[in-house]
Amino acid sequence: MSDRTYLNWPFFEPRHRELSAQLETWSAKHLAHVPHDELDRTCRTLVEQLGTDGWLRHAAPDPAQPGASYDVRTICLIRETMGRYSALAEFTFAMQGLGSSAIALAGTDAQKRAFLTGVRAGERIAAFALTEAESGSDLASVATTAVRDGDTFVLNGGKKWISNAGIADFYVVLARTGEAPGAKGLSLFVVEANTPGFRISERLSTIAPHPLGSLEFKECRVAADRLVGRAGDGFKITMAALDVFRTTVGAAALGFSRRALDEAVARTTSRQLFGAPLSAMQATQAKLADMAVAIDASALLVYRAAWTKDSGAERVTREASMAKYFSTESAQRVIDSAVQLCGALGVLSGHPVESLYREIRALRIYEGASEVQQQIIARAVLADTDQPRR
Ligand SMILES: Cc1cc2nc3c(=O)[nH]c(=O)nc-3n(C[C@H](O)[C@H](O)[C@H](O)COP(=O)(O)OP(=O)(O)OC[C@H]3O[C@@H](n4cnc5c(N)ncnc54)[C@H](O)[C@@H]3O)c2cc1C
Repeated sequence: MSDRTYLNWPFFEPRHRELSAQLETWSAKHLAHVPHDELDRTCRTLVEQLGTDGWLRHAAPDPAQPGASYDVRTICLIRETMGRYSALAEFTFAMQGLGSSAIALAGTDAQKRAFLTGVRAGERIAAFALTEAESGSDLASVATTAVRDGDTFVLNGGKKWISNAGIADFYVVLARTGEAPGAKGLSLFVVEANTPGFRISERLSTIAPHPLGSLEFKECRVAADRLVGRAGDGFKITMAALDVFRTTVGAAALGFSRRALDEAVARTTSRQLFGAPLSAMQATQAKLADMAVAIDASALLVYRAAWTKDSGAERVTREASMAKYFSTESAQRVIDSAVQLCGALGVLSGHPVESLYREIRALRIYEGASEVQQQIIARAVLADTDQPRR
């Protein structure tokens, strides 16, 4: 059983501890054996189940409550806990939140009612389409266009590496509307999956299977009321969404790390080597100690960022970047140590640490690669000084 003493840290309120206990029980019952064949069907079933059992109510604010916003600590606790049981369930939960985040942050009341209600009930699947083949880390270079034509916008272009491509009911798409060059000329649009001129042009298979693919827009016409926020504000809204969700990527990585440590402890205390448990060796203990320290440090950064946002900070860019950067990078090392401690068992297909070893890799790349996070953190450090530091 993973350490739960962190729930007593002052970042949390009694309702967080209550939710965490309920989710632990629910996850043990429903997420212990999530199948990985029939990927699309499994993800659809997970969305339905997460909706029916109420967990998706935390992925997006309630449109019926004016002024409702995210509780980032709750999203982090859910991603961390689900990440410990099933990376696919964790991904499914996260995408409902991230996919609908622009609507939650900048949409009209009508858009919120039309899309968030279904997302929270598990009846509509969301996707967030930013990246293109030639525009990943440098999002300001997005080339997909949206041209105003009367009461509509006409989209042309393509997106790549889009989670939930093929199973989503709607896609929030970043496109160039041209109010200004670069980042200030981008806008966001909701495109429903059945819109003429829109299609999934390919499905992509990665190291840890998730629904993923490319989108194509050919003279794809959407009503002007599908514009999310103001024209030209697409980049700004996207950054505000990442300000919330980057911290929660760190939380998912934290859940993966906790599971890796649990597996390593279980294996090293039961495996007999040279007449004693593997855990009795000092080299093993040094590894376990480093894993435990990395986990607590990640948790402190993740929940510091989440608490700061929940306490009303307008932006938590530095804190969120630190949480994502440190937690995902250290999870890679923690999981690698768990694989090493498990020996051959650690690379056996389907063993929990083997799956985690594949699952963690993409978290260091998406929603801003680690190098992008370093750049953001360094900028914040340098902005705090009058003179460059020597
Ligand atoms: C599993 C998965 C799911 C995804 N889901 C989505 C999704 O739902 N929606 C969506 O829009 N996108 C999604 N993406 C795309 C993801 O956001 C991009 O892959 C990411 O932004 C990086 O872009 P890129 O792959 O084009 O890499 P590039 O931009 O080509 O960068 C390559 C590498 O360059 C380095 N680098 C980048 N910037 C800097 C810098 N400033 N300084 C130094 N080094 C740098 C980093 O090491 C980076 O990994 C997903 C990707 C994966 C793998």
